[in-house]
Amino acid sequence: MAHEKRTRLLVIGSGPAGLTAAIYAARAALSPVVLTGQQPGGQLTITTEVENWPGDTSVLGPDLMARMEAQVRHLGVEIVPDVASRVDLSHRPFLVETDGGARLLAETLVIATGAQARWLGLPMEQTLRGKGVSACATCDGFFFRGREVAVVGGGNSAAEEALFLTRFATRVHLIHRRDSLRADKTNQARILANAKVRIHWNREVADLEATPDRLALAALRLRDTATGALERLPVEGLFIAIGHDPATGLFRGQVAMDEAGYILTAPDSTATSVPGVFAAGDVKDRLYRQAVTAAGMGCMAALEAERFLAGHGAAAQPSLALA
Ligand SMILES: Cc1cc2nc3c(=O)[nH]c(=O)nc-3n(C[C@H](O)[C@H](O)[C@H](O)COP(=O)(O)OP(=O)(O)OC[C@H]3O[C@@H](n4cnc5c(N)ncnc54)[C@H](O)[C@@H]3O)c2cc1C
Repeated sequence: MAHEKRTRLLVIGSGPAGLTAAIYAARAALSPVVLTGQQPGGQLTITTEVENWPGDTSVLGPDLMARMEAQVRHLGVEIVPDVASRVDLSHRPFLVETDGGARLLAETLVIATGAQARWLGLPMEQTLRGKGVSACATCDGFFFRGREVAVVGGGNSAAEEALFLTRFATRVHLIHRRDSLRADKTNQARILANAKVRIHWNREVADLEATPDRLALAALRLRDTATGALERLPVEGLFIAIGHDPATGLFRGQVAMDEAGYILTAPDSTATSVPGVFAAGDVKDRLYRQAVTAAGMGCMAALEAERFLAGHGAAAQPSLALA
């Protein structure tokens, strides 16, 4: 790749949001460039079966992303295996510098850098990911029909994940290291009223126990945060709901974000606080965090960038009212 390159549309990120933006932009003859980042294909490359992608009863996450990438390549999009390390969004064309030493000048930008779930950091956690350990009840809850599962966390996400899981699981253990939930009053009331949920107050997960063949989760080892005493809790599923971190450090101070670092966009739009910069997928979505919603937002971002470039400039872009 040339040391310096100009493009009409640069997509940062190669998950469902970024690749869908590239498909729509390519088909609008914008000749987009995609920066893959350190995780080409995004979060779905680290999972196994995906059963809620329309059109596929079941598809492996890495296969789905490989197919999306093939479609993008088929459309002639340049996919650059590099990581954005610095951006200057103060004027157009926007400047994006990469780890590989490239300087990309982009008339419009789609930020699709996604988010990463927070994990507990336990040694067995990564071994058992996809084998009982998950960070997404919407994605994986269905696999635990008739089983006993646990959720870790005490905020709204944990409460909502636990309530969702009661549709499938015979019992949902909510593990919380304090003696009260941070979830809002409505969620607290729902949790407390649900006979399938059992809350383990003042407990943290100290360790995970696998089945002898190490192919599935067998139990949790819980530590009493007050006394340090350990107890064993047999469960087949563990859902970690202690938050997500949007990958937005690069853009801090340059586009408007909420207090958790999610990029703010105008209503019904992917337009950010900077005219010509659009954000799509998990990087701006703390609510749904699904491949199909990310892809939908990628489509919106490309169409909005196209309109922006069609001569209307900032006037065509929905404005983001900042408090
Ligand atoms: C284990 C697991 C299982 C899941 N299962 C499902 C499921 O069954 N169904 C479902 O709908 N959803 C599922 N999800 C959620 C789904 O993966 C996400 O909602 C979706 O991937 C979000 O897409 P995205 O494009 O916004 O971001 P991501 O997929 O997170 O992609 C972000 C992209 O940005 C790139 N990037 C980050 N920083 C930089 C940088 N500085 N420079 C360049 N590039 C950068 C990364 O390399 C990556 O390519 C699952 C998630 C996980 C973790």
